[in-house]
Amino acid sequence: MRLFRCACHSGLSYWSNVARAPADVGGGTRALPRSGGPVDASVLHDLAAASRILADQGVVDAFGHVSMRHPSDPNRFLMSRSLAPALVTPDDIMEYDLDCDCVDAQGRGSFLERFIHGEIFRKRPDVMAVVHSHSPNVIPFGLIDTPMRAMFHNAAFVARGVPVFDIHEKFGATDMLVGNSEKGVALAEKLGDKDVMLMRAHGSVATGPSLPVAVFRAVYTEVNARLQFQTAMLAGGGNIAALDAEEGRLADEVNLKSSARAWDLWKRRVGF
Ligand code: MN
Repeated sequence: MRLFRCACHSGLSYWSNVARAPADVGGGTRALPRSGGPVDASVLHDLAAASRILADQGVVDAFGHVSMRHPSDPNRFLMSRSLAPALVTPDDIMEYDLDCDCVDAQGRGSFLERFIHGEIFRKRPDVMAVVHSHSPNVIPFGLIDTPMRAMFHNAAFVARGVPVFDIHEKFGATDMLVGNSEKGVALAEKLGDKDVMLMRAHGSVATGPSLPVAVFRAVYTEVNARLQFQTAMLAGGGNIAALDAEEGRLADEVNLKSSARAWDLWKRRVGF
């Protein structure tokens, strides 16, 4: 019997004195992870808001998800139970360790592709939030050799380079989903030190040093893809004067601060 605090219920965190059941993982069993500690209700509220913002901004639809690192334990992260993003409430947020085992699922289902998040958090200590989406305008750039480039200052982070993760390279023909740790590790390796990455014939990943910045980057990756498509049509094979690396670096410094304004607006739009 161990006393632990459940961080899964917004504002209603409670102390329980129950036995930890072993997790049935990969044919073996291991103890369920211990919670990283209670989480403030405002944190769960913001993560639910992020989910709804991404739906409102057309980045996610019935699918896609957003996560954030646990505020007081870098080896834990927070993410909704398996649910359409527009429906997420603070009560749906669950806690995971970096192996993507849930601390206290209470019978609720987990996203199949949570390994995207767990393995990025493991590999990148600087990343505090991760968005995975299938936002439609981004998809074509994962299918062609033309790299995504930063069309305007809001998408400055794109100028650092956008790798493409092709799951086929290491795993051959698959269902395209990053549904286990091994695939998550390969994905996190391909991301390297970049902020966003495309996933061939699947979608994309956006990361940030905070939840608002990760959401900002997910939104503007989608906008940038649309603009690059339009620009390429207009250019007709001619030069495209996108931001260069130094312009991207300078503009991203501003974005890191001004993303708060977008966050406040988008949050209000979804009534949070
Ligand atoms: Mn996916």
